[in-house]
Amino acid sequence: MWWGLSLFLCKLSSRRQLDYQFNSDGPEVLNNLNRLAGTQQTSRPVNKTLDYFLGRIGSAAVAGLGQKMVARLIRMKALDEVRLQGRVLVLIDGSGYLVFHYQHCEQCLTQQHGETTIYMHQVLEAKVLGPGGTVFSIATEFIDNRDAQDTPTGASPEQVKQDCELKALPRLVAKIRTAFPQLRICLVGDSQFACGAGFQVARDGRCAFLYVFKEGRTPALWRDFQGLLKLCPEQHVELTTPQGIHQVYRWVNDLDYEDSDGRPWTFHALHCRETKKTGVVTQWAWVTPLKVDRDTVVAVATKGGRERWREENEGFNTQKNSGLNLEHAYSHKCWAAYYFLLQIAHMILQLVEKGSLLRQLAEQVGKRTAVALFGSLKNMAQRLLESLRYRRWEDEAFDVGRAATIQIRLDSS
Ligand SMILES: [Zn+2]
Repeated sequence: MWWGLSLFLCKLSSRRQLDYQFNSDGPEVLNNLNRLAGTQQTSRPVNKTLDYFLGRIGSAAVAGLGQKMVARLIRMKALDEVRLQGRVLVLIDGSGYLVFHYQHCEQCLTQQHGETTIYMHQVLEAKVLGPGGTVFSIATEFIDNRDAQDTPTGASPEQVKQDCELKALPRLVAKIRTAFPQLRICLVGDSQFACGAGFQVARDGRCAFLYVFKEGRTPALWRDFQGLLKLCPEQHVELTTPQGIHQVYRWVNDLDYEDSDGRPWTFHALHCRETKKTGVVTQWAWVTPLKVDRDTVVAVATKGGRERWREENEGFNTQKNSGLNLEHAYSHKCWAAYYFLLQIAHMILQLVEKGSLLRQLAEQVGKRTAVALFGSLKNMAQRLLESLRYRRWEDEAFDVGRAATIQIRLDSS
């Protein structure tokens, strides 16, 4: 496992690189990884060994390990600072994952671009939000052509994506509930989930929700909202941020909605209108069963709703563009196991990059963050690789008793 994780921790970008970077001219690689894993291997694995190993244990085992690590963070209260009304925020978002120009397996989703057919796999991710913009994967649903079966042929790629993600959402939330039966959760998602199906998933999974509210998704509900806002002008909070951005928050409580299956729903809706110094106006709205009033409206919007972009930025973009190389097909057979391995590595990297240990080291030499200390995230990965190859890690680094006294705190500033 550590051999595989190191592929991502050192950002080697492809499996073949394992054979070149972790070879015998790095005299300490085997020794360091042996001690890290508590093993006594006498020879190095090669990249095919990793593929064979992951194929044997299967992707669910790797996913389960990642969930246990997040459970530990939750138990240590590492995420408590960013809970909203006592609930952990679980950001839900879909993304493209693997793309091929040939049919890679029976379940590939297909997309037509003129004469060309593209074969791909998508994912629907659930990531818990931590302090300092950290996000940790707690469940993943892979989306394939079985999810697109009911979508009419000729539907736009956007329609296919939306249908697929709505179909995968109940499976995703069921997975979260199996792994975290007691956790108080608020699902945070975009407007495609703000419909009967999305509300029902939250109810079945005993979760609160905070979904983006858009006129185009539920036009009648939006008209009700606008009408009711006029009737309660006193439900409004205005403020100017330290950056000089003027914000107006308005809300309506107990909005009634009947979905297309005739199910009745009641929730609150809130609206934020933001004017920058330049005069640029941006508006957002959300629906939620969370408490929305004069004291909570700003927190619900800023700590909850607007954190959703983090999954895009800190989650998918980092994993695609930072050397983790999410869209690379690390393996033809067991790509799912590599997906989960990458999620675990990303969790460890965030704890290293944004945790208090390296920050203390940085502060000792007058730098504010670990990234500033090393110059870039890429440099950090390179230093780690050099260290793994050439430095015999100190025995005290493996002292479990000592480690138990260290508490890693995530920087929220
Ligand atoms: Zn496929």
